[in-house]
Amino acid sequence: MNGQIVKRVVIAGGGTAGWMAAAALCRQLGPLLDITLVESDDIGTVGVGESTIPTARTFNALLGIDEQQFMRETQSTFKLGISFENWGQIGDRYIHSFGQVGKSTWMGGFHHFWLQARAQGFGGDLGDYCFELKAAEAEKFFTDDKASINYAYHLDATLYGQFLRRMSEGKGVRRIEGKIASVRQRAGDGFIEALVMDSGAVVEGDLFIDCTGFRGLLIEQTLKTGWEDWSHWLPTNSALAVQTTSTGPAVPYTRAIAHKAGWRWKIPLQHRVGNGLVYSSDHMSDDEARQILTDAVEGQMLTEPRVIRYGAGRRRKTWSKNCVALGLASGFLEPLESTSIHMIMIGVTRLMQLFPFGGFNEALADRYNRLAEDELEKIRDFIILHYKATERADSPFWDYCRMMDIPDSLAQRVALFQENAQVYQAPGELFQVDSWLQVMLGQRMVPASHHHMGRMMPPAQLRQALEDLKGNIAGAVARMPSHQDFLDRYCPAETPKAGGARIGAAG
Ligand code: FAD
Repeated sequence: MNGQIVKRVVIAGGGTAGWMAAAALCRQLGPLLDITLVESDDIGTVGVGESTIPTARTFNALLGIDEQQFMRETQSTFKLGISFENWGQIGDRYIHSFGQVGKSTWMGGFHHFWLQARAQGFGGDLGDYCFELKAAEAEKFFTDDKASINYAYHLDATLYGQFLRRMSEGKGVRRIEGKIASVRQRAGDGFIEALVMDSGAVVEGDLFIDCTGFRGLLIEQTLKTGWEDWSHWLPTNSALAVQTTSTGPAVPYTRAIAHKAGWRWKIPLQHRVGNGLVYSSDHMSDDEARQILTDAVEGQMLTEPRVIRYGAGRRRKTWSKNCVALGLASGFLEPLESTSIHMIMIGVTRLMQLFPFGGFNEALADRYNRLAEDELEKIRDFIILHYKATERADSPFWDYCRMMDIPDSLAQRVALFQENAQVYQAPGELFQVDSWLQVMLGQRMVPASHHHMGRMMPPAQLRQALEDLKGNIAGAVARMPSHQDFLDRYCPAETPKAGGARIGAAG
């Protein structure tokens, strides 16, 4: 295929991954490509995936999306972080916010000053020095052109897909509705030539993007690239999702509430709330999970809870021959840190950066695969940390998590922190020092020592500096409007018509 002109791009699947890929490719490379998306209304989409991280804003900017319009049309709310409840021990709560904690120096992170202060009996909570965290706690929000606040969105997954579809079709993406019956490969090298539809129609292409969800119709069922299983580190494998009516003002954070065999999410949107229960089916039956979820949700249920099965892991290659897999087709890490939509975004932007204009070759695919693997492994480690760093001993599930072996890459980080309070962000890594720090401390990890740069300051000066920082943040938060008031003013969505709640889509 070397030297072949790659112009016809066929996207198989029209879930969040398919339409994100279509929207980005047509916006950034549209005149050079001929883009077709194939999706099946009968099969539908997974219908979950409603909590994002701040890179969603970068992606929207890439697509030239107007924030207020986007939020109105997708019933979005703002997200400043995730409230983790019952993770270190039952009754614990901490917020992993998107903010920076304090002010770091070239020699070391701010937390070393804070640990020094704590050793001397003052300093309060680390969260007192993080603007986004305090705003989340106070359920406040404000943004404008000048505001420096790091945030993401909670959005309605189905409406998001429809929003991206409108954009893409407006820019010339061709949509074909129907079921893919088989995939035609070229004799000799096995490159994909065409999708053959149930109707008998044939959709030919040069590059195929597999966005068919967990089934991985092209990347796995056709090209058999193989699967690397991570379920021994991430033992949840099932989720129940249900939508409910809102019962109060929307909070600017996702809730992740641990239970005896996993955790439960609560995602506030403008028109409803997305709820779900994530669990390990080895440790909890579907019936018990359903009971826990229906007992816990507030508001009236708008949909029937439905089970989604998954496994943690990744395809051994996400780019194989002339096929690139995105979204659930490429691998899955459970939604604890809302990273899947981010991975789609990174996958499609990386594809645009490495687009095979000179034809397909191993070097290009290898580069793509190495970058994807490296980033996903670091996210995997971060999620494992939430399960491993616990003192919970109230169920076989938590006993398993507490005692399990962890990847060497994570074990080294944990040792570095526990012994020295040192935390780092590796090159190309998504999660920053502040994220690692908030989760490690939030889950009761206590470092044995820390850097002594804080001792270079007299205690009174250190105390004053911390007080000033804390006071500035508290003052700024006090001046902000409530999140709900800001939403009502900034991007009020239309109220759905009575009976208009969609049945089936959830989470
Ligand atoms: P799907 O939505 O499954 O779409 C697959 C598409 O392929 C559909 O259009 C389908 O019709 C089509 N298709 C399949 N087979 C055929 C065929 N034979 N012929 C034609 N078309 C076909 N991510 C986040 O970032 N944040 C979250 O909070 C979050 N929460 C999640 C909670 C759970 C329980 C789960 C399981 C996932 C969550 N995710 C989350 C991940 C997120 O849902 C997905 O990354 C996202 O929805 C993308 O899905 P997809 O487009 O890859 O697959």
